[in-house]
Amino acid sequence: MSGSIFEKIIQREIPADIVFEDETLIAFRDRSPQAPVHVLFVPKHRYDTLNDVPSTEAELLGTLMLAARNYAQSIGMAEDGYRLVMNCNRNGGQTVYHIHLHLLGGAPLTGGFA
Ligand code: AMP
Repeated sequence: MSGSIFEKIIQREIPADIVFEDETLIAFRDRSPQAPVHVLFVPKHRYDTLNDVPSTEAELLGTLMLAARNYAQSIGMAEDGYRLVMNCNRNGGQTVYHIHLHLLGGAPLTGGFA
């Protein structure tokens, strides 16, 4: 399959507002924010959906969550709270087929997030 739009961001082929990066993942602001803080945590190794992640990659999923938690703490958002979301496939509202964790916060979040 051709490169995902997030692979293009990782490769610096298209711009993004990157807030964190290490050897495992990259985090950048969502271009269509659904909350005052809306950052996507994306593993550099691509899996199309959560369904494609083997159980041997449990650590990768934990790393994504902890990176989002650490970022929320670093910007002073953790005490008030935040939401982490990973959409899967059509009914989950997934639009980019390269797994990513949404971090949403900065205000009370009411209702759902799609
Ligand atoms: P999902 O619907 O869970 O697949 O989320 C994909 C998210 O990626 C959406 O919230 C989009 O606004 C966001 N998105 C798509 N393309 C870009 C981009 N080039 N830079 C930043 N965010 C993007």
